[in-house]
Amino acid sequence: MLYPLLRSILQVAWHYALVVGVFAALWLWWRLRPGRRRRLQAKPIGAPQIRREMLTSVFSIIALGSVMPLAFALGLGRHTNFYQSVHAYGRGWGFIALMVVLMMLIQDTWFYWTHRLMHHRRLFRWAHRTHHRSTNTGPWSTYSISPLEAVIDSGASIVILLLLPVTFWSLFIFSWINTIFAVYTHLGYELFPRALSKHWLGRWINTSIAHNTHHARGRYNYSWYFLFWDRMMGTLSPDYDEHYRKAGFSAPEAKSR
Ligand SMILES: [Zn+2]
Ligand SMILES: [Zn+2]
Repeated sequence: MLYPLLRSILQVAWHYALVVGVFAALWLWWRLRPGRRRRLQAKPIGAPQIRREMLTSVFSIIALGSVMPLAFALGLGRHTNFYQSVHAYGRGWGFIALMVVLMMLIQDTWFYWTHRLMHHRRLFRWAHRTHHRSTNTGPWSTYSISPLEAVIDSGASIVILLLLPVTFWSLFIFSWINTIFAVYTHLGYELFPRALSKHWLGRWINTSIAHNTHHARGRYNYSWYFLFWDRMMGTLSPDYDEHYRKAGFSAPEAKSR
């Protein structure tokens, strides 16, 4: 039991560290180029915030990494359809791609509704306040969540394993996409082009700007990957499309450059 637990925690930690490291390297490269991108909120993030986020991340990573090994130790494996082989079901990579998309839809739905629940005044303090202490986010804000929120968030993986026939590779690809997207939405920079929110497909994709607005205002934009739920439930920030076209909060800063 101890070995799978440690392996799982270390896996969450190194995935996160690697993704943050790659984004940090890209950011440095970007800063050196002309026409650099602007921070979504002009105010720089101080060292105390980063220290606090890194410290809370240690506990949330332990919680994130523990949920699945504990769930399997309690017998989750008896109710799942997990296959090591890429060619399970004889459908190969096309099947895996479909599973990854379905996993993303389940993750998005789980996150949207549990996230809204965690904003309920009776739950917010216990489950979600730690994450919202960062009103101006950077990569280290991503896993700056309470252990309770880490457990709630991990529920998506349990639902996915219960509902879908997953293979090793679909889980592997999904978990990388998940970490990369989570860090992207907290970057404090927008990476997608400005035309995205007007594009027929792009308007359904969640962005760093949308999640940054969520942190800045403490409301609106509860989604993870997509904006289906926010657009359908009327919880998208009213000025999101206009805001996105301006590519960020820092309009005054944008004019000065
Ligand atoms: Zn929130
Ligand atoms: Zn966040």
